[in-house]
Amino acid sequence: APMTGPARKRVVLAEPRGFCAGVVRAIAMVERALEVYGAPVYVRKQIVHNHHVIATLERKGARFVESEEEVPEGAVCLFSAHGVSPQVREGSAARGLEVIDATCPLVSRVHQHARRVTRDGRVLLLIGHEEHEETEGTRGEAPEVTIVVESADDVDRLELDPATPVAYLTQTTLSMDETAGIVERLRSRFTDIVSPAHDTICYASQNRQNGVKSLLDRCDLVLVVGSRNSSNSLRMVDVARDGGVAAHLTPDVSHLDERWLRGVTSIGVSSGASVPEILVGQLVDRLAELGFRDVEIDVTSVEDVTFSMPTQLATADAATA
Ligand code: SF4
Repeated sequence: APMTGPARKRVVLAEPRGFCAGVVRAIAMVERALEVYGAPVYVRKQIVHNHHVIATLERKGARFVESEEEVPEGAVCLFSAHGVSPQVREGSAARGLEVIDATCPLVSRVHQHARRVTRDGRVLLLIGHEEHEETEGTRGEAPEVTIVVESADDVDRLELDPATPVAYLTQTTLSMDETAGIVERLRSRFTDIVSPAHDTICYASQNRQNGVKSLLDRCDLVLVVGSRNSSNSLRMVDVARDGGVAAHLTPDVSHLDERWLRGVTSIGVSSGASVPEILVGQLVDRLAELGFRDVEIDVTSVEDVTFSMPTQLATADAATA
């Protein structure tokens, strides 16, 4: 809407934003493993998808590798929050690795469901992004009977009889709206389809997307702090754009492009589930220097989810206490 008079430039900070319970736990597990076992500890894949988190843990002695096959035999190896396939577990056992599994409990729940429905003889239609590690891990539970579906158009392309017993699941970090369209298409295509008892998009992704939606009627630009490979952060950008507001993924303040701010009065800021608050703080400080001095908080929900450490690390900690 056209503004009358000199509008005060402001930032509206979405809350909740940033770290979810699964990310807090995964990072704490790497730190605890470093304390208990000493450096180096190996981490298969990025523990969470954030470049700042990875750099910080590397300085403390974590070594990030792409595959369990790069880890020296017998060494400590953490699995990332995104989960792994049974094949990775087997490969790690074969190398005698001391495995510490930082898979988010909400991802583990999706794996359990994948095992259950495929054991029941259903084809699993996994709604997610083919290249994402979480999808790779979940598909690994039953690779012969799992098909990844990335879009509603993918549903039309499935070469399956409409009477085939199927079940669907979604990657935890997708956008609710996008997924709803795909599910609708699946339901109209298949006659024997099982849906998960609970939506498998996780609470943190939902809350952060709701937070972005709430920014849309009061902001003319949305900045989502998050790394380029962070699925949930990318979905937050999608949500803003689908709502008709310009939005940019901003991995950190160095990626802020001042041209985005032309003609803008009110900037909504949020961050993905793997983003440390320091990166948001640096962006907000920079925006203040550029004239966006007022900061408001927009609270859309209050999160009290926490996940405990596995007993493996809790016990090791007790032993060294
Ligand atoms: Fe778990 Fe959701 Fe966080 Fe992923 S984004 S680690 S599924 S809580």
